[in-house]
Amino acid sequence: MAVERARVIEAVEAARPVVERISAEVWDLAELSLEEVESAQVHVRELEAAGFEVTTGTSGFETAFVAERRFGDGPVVGFLAEYDALPGLGNEAVPRRQPRADGKTSGHGCGHNVLGAALTGAAVAVAGVLEADGLPGTVRVYGCAAEETEGAKVYMARDGLFEDVDACLHWHPWSLAAVMNMRLAATSAVRIAFHGKTAHAGMEPWSGRSALDGLELTAHGLNLMREHVEPTARIHYVYEHGGEAPNVVPDYARMLLLVRDVDRAHVVSTVEWVRQIAEGAALATQTTSEVDVFFGMHDLLPNTPLAERMQIHLEAAGVPSWTDEEQAFARECQANMGLPEAGLFEDVVPLQPEVAIGGSSDVADVSWNAPTMGVVLPTAPIGVSMHTWPVTACGGMSIGLKGALTATDVLVATALDVLTDSELRAAARADFERRTAGARYVSPIPPEQTGPRGFRLPVSAP
Ligand SMILES: [Zn+2]
Repeated sequence: MAVERARVIEAVEAARPVVERISAEVWDLAELSLEEVESAQVHVRELEAAGFEVTTGTSGFETAFVAERRFGDGPVVGFLAEYDALPGLGNEAVPRRQPRADGKTSGHGCGHNVLGAALTGAAVAVAGVLEADGLPGTVRVYGCAAEETEGAKVYMARDGLFEDVDACLHWHPWSLAAVMNMRLAATSAVRIAFHGKTAHAGMEPWSGRSALDGLELTAHGLNLMREHVEPTARIHYVYEHGGEAPNVVPDYARMLLLVRDVDRAHVVSTVEWVRQIAEGAALATQTTSEVDVFFGMHDLLPNTPLAERMQIHLEAAGVPSWTDEEQAFARECQANMGLPEAGLFEDVVPLQPEVAIGGSSDVADVSWNAPTMGVVLPTAPIGVSMHTWPVTACGGMSIGLKGALTATDVLVATALDVLTDSELRAAARADFERRTAGARYVSPIPPEQTGPRGFRLPVSAP
């Protein structure tokens, strides 16, 4: 049984002011991961006003929350809202690189202001329908803090917060309109630090042992290892600390490494090899090594019945009808980025066969605990990738808002189907069971770690 299209449109229209307020306010706040205090409060304020019960400080994150509205005993639908910004991507809502007049340097270069707005807006809309029509069900919003760094979803998954959910829905701003019928890579984040012994590098180098030597030998070992891992593995790192001055033998050096592959088992076995490389490098350089695997994510599991249903609703909603001004805005962004001036996307991509993509997302850990599916909608010009200034710019004006309202539409329609169509729920659950094949969910987070570590630690030696 599907809810009528007119009912969906009406519900989205009723929630429009919620989407508009959140989108605008969170764009303005542009708070970074783990600092998104006021942005979270904007969501909480709107949800409480709509009758949701909210708990904050979820799973060790001050800026995470769970909001719920329950109507009797019924199915549960979850919405995954995010609201953190990125450093260095602050921009005025204009089609050129222009710092914000208020001096704020962070910005929503991944569009999480519109992302969160549509998900919270959709939850408010769906709860409104359940209440008005006397339908049973629970609507839950997960306030997913720190998506850009140490994703709260992974901690929430460890705490079992998704286990009773019939379907979790999400979306992401993009330059296209498509259902996210894809797999993403599993990953682990590893900090490797070396401790040595400092000395004057000119007068008495024999008294020192260079921590940087240990780190450089580790990097060499990693790069030799590359030949012998499967082609799906990705290994990338940066040096976070390499010493202070060349005339001082560095007694501390550190890198941040990401290992990705098709699933946890592959990642875990590569990380074990990384540990051995660091131990070997420490022996060779008479230094000591520390390997800290402080964060990780699963591979993202799609869900075929949910993807097929979402595709129907995406095609019904269509892409926003763009004005000439919006198309001109997009083309000017593209010109300033050196991209073809193709404007904004105007089609819906047909449902694609499942493909594996090299990126990762903390949505993956939700997808290992409940049937999960998402959609992307255009909020940025064709060819513009996420984490760039045009995404910030478009997210602060009508292009981003129109994308968000279309996303709200698709999310509301799909959520109402989940809540009212027991066959869809059963099919989604069966697909989930087939993909997880009885495997127990093992959190990538070390058991002793109670909350986020701070992905960007100060680079000075401890
Ligand atoms: Zn994002």
